[in-house]
Amino acid sequence: MKNRLGLHANVWVAGWSETEAARAIDKTAEFGFDLIEISAMELLKINVADTRRRLDKAGIGVTLSLGLDAQRDISSADPLRVAAGEAHLREVIAIARDLGATHVCGILYSAFQKYEQPPTAAGVASSIDVMARIAEKAAASGITLGMEVVNRYETNVLNTAAQGVEYCRRVGAPNVKVHLDVYHMNIEEADAAAAIHAAGDLLGYFHTGESHRGYMGTGSVDLKSIFQALARIGYEGPITYESFSSRVVGQPLTGILGIWRETWEDGDDLVRHARMYTQSQMNAAKYAVSRRNSLP
Ligand code: MN
Repeated sequence: MKNRLGLHANVWVAGWSETEAARAIDKTAEFGFDLIEISAMELLKINVADTRRRLDKAGIGVTLSLGLDAQRDISSADPLRVAAGEAHLREVIAIARDLGATHVCGILYSAFQKYEQPPTAAGVASSIDVMARIAEKAAASGITLGMEVVNRYETNVLNTAAQGVEYCRRVGAPNVKVHLDVYHMNIEEADAAAAIHAAGDLLGYFHTGESHRGYMGTGSVDLKSIFQALARIGYEGPITYESFSSRVVGQPLTGILGIWRETWEDGDDLVRHARMYTQSQMNAAKYAVSRRNSLP
């Protein structure tokens, strides 16, 4: 595996002022990560030139992630919301291009919210139409789009890897990929390793973490089988660690993510351990998969 290891910026900071950008980028590089994933939720606050300069200086790559909101939901029956969502995604892609980002991922295909109804066929078709156009714009800047498959409380469109695969096939663009996350798979998939195999070549982005989104190794996610599955399918994309503390992110993210208890206090320790733990899982998986038992 040649995967780049990433870290979600919200481990360090809540927003993206120049001070926050400097801290998050420098800490991410200091702890040995190859890229930082920045939340694009507060896009207008990003000083693109300043961030790009700091990334270059630190020598790390960047990806962006976001979820749409209800007013900009491209799976909505309301054409005004769909148009607003498409305009927003175009704006995000332009910023990603200017930052030199390789991936834009997250809940790009619907709002990031608890829905009260299942998705409609027309809503899904609308989302796929918009995504095909956004993919074309992203491809012009060499950007891959990751459709993050999340749990039922965060979208009604993509809750399983199989749905992610079907969605990407229907979009039919080579830069539209499935983005899987161990936290969400732990809730929705019968078998996370099988889900990774189902995604196969369409897997384009990966979030590691824990069942409670805290300290690695203290939850119930079977990382051994997950990393072996990643090795078996030959996944070479980014693997980004995601963990949240309300002490860092504050509101409104604490409320949106439902962080009602703290799973960690010392960010340095959390991140140092996660980096080592993830590398260890990758090394072990690579070793296990390469040493197939066979007769001499
Ligand atoms: Mn995630």
